[in-house]
Amino acid sequence: MRPLDEVLTEVLSALEPLAPVLLPIADAVGTVLAEAVLAPEDVPPFANTAMDGYAVRAADTSGADADSPRRLEVVGDLPAGHPPRDAVGPGQAVRIMTGAPIPDGADAIVPVERTERDCASAVLVLAPAAVGDHIRPAGGDASQGSTVFVPGEVLGPAAIGVLASLARTSVLVHPRPRVAVISTGDELVEGGGPLAPGQIRDSNRPMICELVRAAGAIPVDLGIARDDEAVLEARLLAAAAEHDAIVTSGGVSVGDYDVVKAVLDRIGVLRWSQIAIKPAKPFAFGVIGTTPILGLPGNPVSSNVSFELLARPALRRLAGHRDEVRVPVEAVAGEAFDRRNDGKVHYDRVVVTVDAAGRLRARRSGGQGSNVLTAMARANGLAVLDDGSGVPAGAAIRVLLLADPVPEGA
Ligand code: AMP
Ligand code: MG
Repeated sequence: MRPLDEVLTEVLSALEPLAPVLLPIADAVGTVLAEAVLAPEDVPPFANTAMDGYAVRAADTSGADADSPRRLEVVGDLPAGHPPRDAVGPGQAVRIMTGAPIPDGADAIVPVERTERDCASAVLVLAPAAVGDHIRPAGGDASQGSTVFVPGEVLGPAAIGVLASLARTSVLVHPRPRVAVISTGDELVEGGGPLAPGQIRDSNRPMICELVRAAGAIPVDLGIARDDEAVLEARLLAAAAEHDAIVTSGGVSVGDYDVVKAVLDRIGVLRWSQIAIKPAKPFAFGVIGTTPILGLPGNPVSSNVSFELLARPALRRLAGHRDEVRVPVEAVAGEAFDRRNDGKVHYDRVVVTVDAAGRLRARRSGGQGSNVLTAMARANGLAVLDDGSGVPAGAAIRVLLLADPVPEGA
């Protein structure tokens, strides 16, 4: 058996980020930048007010308070989206709305809450303003010519907003990998019809398609392949030509019908491994042309865990992510995690809760058999149990979070 890290390193080092493409910004969220983004202009483009209030000369408000307000003549009214018409002279003010440009002569904003309207043409200022108060300078978010993003940054929703603020309609990114998903097995059927003796329903393929999507890639469902080496080889070669990666499930154990293992041993550049983990010990990896094939085990929980530990990092590498793997967080063991010494790292399916103080607690989500997909479905984490006798209740435990922790008591 080989350590997971060794196999993962071998997989990742065989892969490179996909060649960059230009995407409309509306399609780019979640992708990884392949260019440096500079600001072509100042953002905001002009100094403007952060508050509704009055644009004033700060010196005119010095010493103001509720008992001795400063009375200023209101010479104009300035909503956002309009150029200033009126300059602010000594003893004067312009009523101004958030986002409107600062009129000539003004050097501070007095928020409306610190004023009282005296009459149509005058305002009482109840507190002093300092020069620059509530003024957002031009370029305060991004100044013209500055570097805003560098290659490798992941574009979240706010980054898409920043790109729009920089007048960008498209952006150079690593594309989402297009991933062919194939189930293998003579026993598999899809859909809701009756099962013939010996048949089971194909649960891996719909699950893996969603795991691919959740990993930021695009699944392409290529159906079920029968346990026939020649047929599978032809399908893998065809799929390799049209996709950035292939994920199969089943057929990687040591049985006579383990066709993925047999085909990849023959045509793939890399090979089959027995990894020192439970579940998901067998794993096959090959490269056909430049297209990687990730052969996950068939037991549904093994398939899922193998995807999380090996396929997801591989797809993230293709997508240009620099942090391919999840990093464990520490939680309190909410129960005893007993295990036997067997030379493997165990990945138990757990529910992770978070209490009001932010403390994480992990409990098993159900039966730990590699066929018990319902426990995987309830889990939001994988507890990492190193080889040994396990972790007692109340001790620290490491967990790979697959989703947000759920609030304690929810
Ligand atoms: P295999 O790795 O092909 O030997 O399969 C191991 C176990 O997983 C067997 O019990 C298979 O029937 C089951 N299995 C394989 N593929 C799937 C699938 N797509 N959906 C559900 N179970 C599967
Ligand atoms: Mg099989």
